[in-house]
Amino acid sequence: GGVSHGPLLDDLNPAQRAAVEHQGRPLLIVAGAGSGKTRVLTRRIAYLLAARGVHPGQIMAITFTNKAAAEMRDRVVDLVGGRAGAMWVSTFHSMCVRLLRREAKTLELTSNFSIYDADDSRRLMALVGRDLELDPKRYSARALANHVSNLKNELIDPDAAADAAANDFERRAAEAYREYQNRLAQANALDFDDLIARTVELFQAFPDVAEHYRRRFRHVLVDEYQDTNHAQYTLIRELVGTGPTESGLPPSELCVVGDADQSIYAFRGATIRNIEEFERDFPDARTILLEQNYRSTQTILSAANAVISRNPGRREKRLWTDAGQGERIVGYVADSEHDEAAFVAEEIDALVDRGEAKYSDVAVFYRTNNQSRVFEEIFIRLGLPYRVVGGVRFYERKEVKDALAYLRVLANPEDTVSLRRILNVPKRGIGERAEAVVATHAERERISFASALRDAVAGRIPLLNPRSQKAITAFVELIDGLRELVDEGTDVADVLEAVLDRTGYRAELEGSDDPQDASRLENLDELVTVAREFTEFARSVGEDTGTSEDTDVATDFEDADVAEPGSLSAFLERVSLVADADSVPSPDGEGADEADEDGVVTLMTVHTAKGLEYPVVFCTGWEDGVFPHLRALGEPKELAEERRLAYVAITRAQRRLYVSRALVRNAWGQPMSNPASRFLDEIPAELVDWRRLAPSGTQRETGTPRAVTTWGRGVGTGVTSSGVRTTSFQAASRGARSSRPNESWKNKVPLKLDVGDRVNHDKYGLGTVVATEGVGPRTTATIDFGSAGTVRLMLIGNVPMVKL
Ligand code: ATP
Ligand code: MG
Repeated sequence: GGVSHGPLLDDLNPAQRAAVEHQGRPLLIVAGAGSGKTRVLTRRIAYLLAARGVHPGQIMAITFTNKAAAEMRDRVVDLVGGRAGAMWVSTFHSMCVRLLRREAKTLELTSNFSIYDADDSRRLMALVGRDLELDPKRYSARALANHVSNLKNELIDPDAAADAAANDFERRAAEAYREYQNRLAQANALDFDDLIARTVELFQAFPDVAEHYRRRFRHVLVDEYQDTNHAQYTLIRELVGTGPTESGLPPSELCVVGDADQSIYAFRGATIRNIEEFERDFPDARTILLEQNYRSTQTILSAANAVISRNPGRREKRLWTDAGQGERIVGYVADSEHDEAAFVAEEIDALVDRGEAKYSDVAVFYRTNNQSRVFEEIFIRLGLPYRVVGGVRFYERKEVKDALAYLRVLANPEDTVSLRRILNVPKRGIGERAEAVVATHAERERISFASALRDAVAGRIPLLNPRSQKAITAFVELIDGLRELVDEGTDVADVLEAVLDRTGYRAELEGSDDPQDASRLENLDELVTVAREFTEFARSVGEDTGTSEDTDVATDFEDADVAEPGSLSAFLERVSLVADADSVPSPDGEGADEADEDGVVTLMTVHTAKGLEYPVVFCTGWEDGVFPHLRALGEPKELAEERRLAYVAITRAQRRLYVSRALVRNAWGQPMSNPASRFLDEIPAELVDWRRLAPSGTQRETGTPRAVTTWGRGVGTGVTSSGVRTTSFQAASRGARSSRPNESWKNKVPLKLDVGDRVNHDKYGLGTVVATEGVGPRTTATIDFGSAGTVRLMLIGNVPMVKL
């Protein structure tokens, strides 16, 4: 008492305030976009610290990205001061890595374990598939890795997977899963899904460990709860416990916030069940609804509501704003994706010129990463400052992964995937055959690949020819020499430089004429910079965490993490986790530096935009087959997820929203004419100011640009009822600026279609083959064109249809 907590509560509405002040039983805050969920979560943490005497070390807050975590931490620090630094604010993955490194011994892991990303997992799975002699066509590494990932998200282990396997694929996948886990263990590595699953295991198998952390973390807060999967949900349950702790403390306080309409990670196993059944999972839970939106204008909210309300089976929400109607949404139909990008760039330029926005106020969204390239090209040409979030996939570039693989091998000698990745990179005369001989030896002797290499050096692998043996010896010496640097405590950046020099990696790129190699060199320089910044960052942190005010509890809470700050392991851990969620090369999880005070335009996928807000938002590529994604057409569940994604996109906008589409877009190396996104149709017409419609002749005069209806040679007109997805080949040949398109694709009439194939029909639009009958010229296919109906077609002659 005695302290005024007014400032922490004053600028909240009553429901928000209730959520901040709530004590005791589990709390669920459900609310639509922009209603202050994240703000409440942040404020609640500040309130716990300032008004309820909670120690920062007792707080565990979980966010969806590293960037969100950094922002939350900064905001709490702003509110209550630097001592808040001892909180754990992180993503699920970061939190698990931290726990697993501390408890590595309990799980018989060594604390220098490698973290495998999706690409590493696939590589490992490819090795497994090869050794199990699985047909790569039926059992691709990608399919197996996805399947195993799904199993892990459901906390199904290899035994359970084998028991539950219902068909051939699942049986073989279960075998692959078991072998894959063996290999991971051998390599002293965990994949991303394991980070969660092993932490759950840690709590379930070791009650004293669970008890320890339950006593420690008295408050668990989770943002974006709608995107948790089963494993994450279980982890939360384990963390808060269901009853009093052994020492008699009540279960930890749990506060989760979410919005079922923004669940967009079903493909990673996220389930809105977690939010919908929160009250069943935690029977004494309290639910608080927030209804006022503080982010957007009424126009933007109305558009968002109109789109999301088409989803079946959702709980209707009343979301309102007092921000006023605001500007109308601006719509634009471009001829091509290049034309669309030019429109966006010019519009941004004009807004900035008129002083209506700064670059940093603007975000450009697209559905998939590859769509960023066209924007980047034109932004560079026009000199607009920009950055790509999540799209650069800096850490997924080959040269960056190669360099990191060296570092990982130095940190974790048993890391087989990394070791095999760099064995002959750059080429040093260790061919595939030699690698296979070593791998077979490892298998037979039941030793790791790394140990097998040492056997090769010692001449214990007779099948190896002398030249390979020599090359392997040189390689092992090279690695040993580099590892000495690490052991001596050399800065990560200097180790990295040594790697690039001593391996000849840099020299090889420098000697190349390929312009791509120049950009590879730049990326490697960037990585060195990241490493330098990391070391400096670690030093600066080391300096400020010398003292702690709350000495009584602090000793227990101070983090004696195993990865020593500034160490190679700490660097690799940071990089793995940043690469996971944000893909921004920065040592502290924050965004890239802003160019100047006007900042830069942000380009990103809608998925990465979750939780963020921008005064000006461009939603691009709103075409059926792009957004909604092709995969979702005709799949009600996936379509519902795409619609939630559209809702997320629209609700990021504060003041101005643009929606655009291109009549023609290159996909799979071919110009595709895409019909308007159905989501465009769902936005009430009066909210949109169409700056440009499709060229006359292909476009109805009024309404949304859904009405592109020419087919064949541009002679058809008229059918525009909602849901009939048609395409305009007339526009196709005229529209694409780079003039590749033509009618030649029509010769590629699919004479062979199989059930499940996707097609694009001139008149009916996109469809899925549901049945085929007959042979030769009599073959017919029954195709489901979604709301345009199911049609049976002869596959002869000039069917105006392409197989996708
Ligand atoms: P999303 O669902 O997109 O994650 P959210 O519910 O988490 O949204 P916030 O990001 O917390 O919403 O808040 C949206 C915006 O509204 C922020 O700029 C926030 O500062 C502001 N805001 C929230 N509550 C209030 C309030 N009571 N008074 C003024 N501004 C508020
Ligand atoms: Mg939020």
